[in-house]
Amino acid sequence: MTPPTAAEIERAIRNIPDFPKAGIQFKDITPLLADARLFSGSVDLLTSNFKPGMVDAVVGIDARGFIFAAAAAVRLEAGFVPVRKKGKLPHQTHEQEYDLEYGTATVAVHVDALKPGSRVLLIDDLLATGGTAAAAAALVQRLGAQILEISFLIELSFLAGREKLKNYPVRSLVVY
Ligand code: AMP
Repeated sequence: MTPPTAAEIERAIRNIPDFPKAGIQFKDITPLLADARLFSGSVDLLTSNFKPGMVDAVVGIDARGFIFAAAAAVRLEAGFVPVRKKGKLPHQTHEQEYDLEYGTATVAVHVDALKPGSRVLLIDDLLATGGTAAAAAALVQRLGAQILEISFLIELSFLAGREKLKNYPVRSLVVY
């Protein structure tokens, strides 16, 4: 399969105005996921700074981040660790609250999900305000693991989410 360009990936992302509520331009990645070459190629691009052996765990963020993080973990021969919304993980967890436009949300990780010192690639589908990724990064740090990079398929740069992730190398494949 010929590797896709970032422009091809961008063309496969569908914009849905006013979903799930008025004013939100929802980036629908399902057309990209349904295309074998584009899905595989985006996983290649998300992992392109690393080779097998360089990453111990790929941490994915609930829920669309799981899709890319799990595939990246297989490609990098690394483990996969989920950061989930509060109340979903069955074992003992660490939790991190963060601000939303209205109110707050909480993400959680199992207390034994990562060994101290383990090398982590953190992945989500989309960087908006950065609150979710910053909270997930804080959980990874609480476990004593080391974040090598935070990678996103999509970045909404006008929301300046990168400013919340200043302490980490951040990459995104498609920037709006
Ligand atoms: P934030 O914490 O503001 O950076 O929001 C990031 C999270 O919300 C990601 O897990 C995304 O899946 C989701 N998200 C935020 N905005 C959008 C959007 N416009 N389209 C699709 N997903 C979004």
